[in-house]
Amino acid sequence: MNKKIFSSIVPFVLAGTLGVSTAMGHTNTDIYSGNWPSSVSNNLDVAVGTSAQGYLLRIQNAASAWNGIEPALNFSSVYTSSSTDTSHVARVNVRGADLGVTGLYADTSNYSYSIIWGYTADWSAEWKDSIVRLNTNTNTTGNGLQNLSYTRIQETVTHEFGHVSALKHNSNTTEDSISIMRQYGFNDKTTPLSHDVSMIQYKY
Ligand SMILES: [Zn+2]
Repeated sequence: MNKKIFSSIVPFVLAGTLGVSTAMGHTNTDIYSGNWPSSVSNNLDVAVGTSAQGYLLRIQNAASAWNGIEPALNFSSVYTSSSTDTSHVARVNVRGADLGVTGLYADTSNYSYSIIWGYTADWSAEWKDSIVRLNTNTNTTGNGLQNLSYTRIQETVTHEFGHVSALKHNSNTTEDSISIMRQYGFNDKTTPLSHDVSMIQYKY
């Protein structure tokens, strides 16, 4: 696990159950069963909190990068908002957070909502909102996003928006070279790759 670069909270937990080998191409093993309601999936707002506004351009690029693959998935606007730092709002909320010197560069959770339980991270439900956290740790040799190259910062943020869009990490690591959703290491690419496009087309 020492090369762990990306994670979303749930795939980290599920990592031990994702060993099923799959053929390349159209498979549903790399997609979460949860979903955005069809009434909002083509019009997802993205709110960038004060703590993440230093990465606003990277976030705008990441949202745009996933648009145009399928009409049913579209991030319609990216705007700054202080409220995302403190509360759930029905949209994609991007925040800065100190995830630690040895923590993840970033993580993502999609949330469902119930009157009884409130907001809970749930990759199998109908999603009400999403929270993307970017590691703002300032140690110059740690895993703060600031220590990555321009390209890898963009790759990381684009990767997290893949989770927002319902993509898991690749269950088959042979697909890592054609996917921005690899769990370990970098491709030094900033936009969805062929496997990612296939997964979005399968999902939407
Ligand atoms: Zn990830």
